[in-house]
Amino acid sequence: MLAVLKENPESGVSIKKVPLPTPKKDEVLVKVVYASICGTDVGIYDWIPWAQGHIKPPIVIGHEVVGEVVKVNTKKRTKIKPGDLVSSETHIFCRNCFQCRKRNYHVCENMELFGIGRNGAFAEYATIPLHTTWRNDPSIPTIAMSVQEPLGNAVNVVTKAQVKGKRVLVMGLGPTGLAAGAAARAMGAKEVVGLNRREYRRKLAKKMGFDRVLDVLDPDEFGKFDAVLEMSGNRMGIEVAFEAVRIAGTIIAFGIPKESITLDWGKYMINKELTIKSVFGREIWKTWKQTTKLLVDKKVDLRKMITHKFPLKDFEKAMHVMKSGECGKIVLVP
Ligand SMILES: [Zn+2]
Ligand SMILES: [Zn+2]
Repeated sequence: MLAVLKENPESGVSIKKVPLPTPKKDEVLVKVVYASICGTDVGIYDWIPWAQGHIKPPIVIGHEVVGEVVKVNTKKRTKIKPGDLVSSETHIFCRNCFQCRKRNYHVCENMELFGIGRNGAFAEYATIPLHTTWRNDPSIPTIAMSVQEPLGNAVNVVTKAQVKGKRVLVMGLGPTGLAAGAAARAMGAKEVVGLNRREYRRKLAKKMGFDRVLDVLDPDEFGKFDAVLEMSGNRMGIEVAFEAVRIAGTIIAFGIPKESITLDWGKYMINKELTIKSVFGREIWKTWKQTTKLLVDKKVDLRKMITHKFPLKDFEKAMHVMKSGECGKIVLVP
């Protein structure tokens, strides 16, 4: 089958034929219908230090997926059966560690990552551990099923920010930022404002239901937001987030900076008496259930942020568009 492979410990990928995977015990074999490209995949492509620390080539990359179940290799009782459209939770938890025993599966201490630490979904077929396989509600558009992971992150961020009736600022309008704005709208925010330097992304944000989108935040608006969702991971963005948030407001940290960040601790952390929470992925399976509800009730339409579709064999072209930033979510079709 055709697959996108991180074949060597260097930048770039190989698009080549590999043997069909066979599902091990308690694994599900799926025929990939759609897989979407994540910012993480760009880092893997470029072989950034994080990728070097997490990937032992050769690995089939890609983790955001919807596939049709071909085979379920288990003796355990499960609702998952051939023909189902399923997705994968990227965080493959161990079920044994301190966090897993507390049901904090998403921050498992021995986490393995789909499409990073084990073969993923940029291929014609993939295997997913049964315990991280999510059976999709068939009323959700199939293409949207492949983009649930970023929406899930956004839903977790917005839930932790408790946005109902609040003025919300979304820093950074990449796919998760866009989804965060849409989720905040759906979850009852009073006003949702998005901030991004790129016009393309601001236009997308308008389509996703943001009330206002700006390229810079006027200092008049500093201290006026009840909740700031920091989705950019950008040093400037983080500085603006701390200025924009109201005294006793909430900041949710999600975007991962490429550099270490310094902060005026006294000015912001103490004098403003903020609530700061960080979010690492989706709560399993609570966030997936919330996400499903938003999609089934048509409160969020993920198709609005899917801007490109490429055949799997054209992965290099897709990566080129991805790096240009002139895109929303890019979906691959095997
Ligand atoms: Zn992802
Ligand atoms: Zn664990």
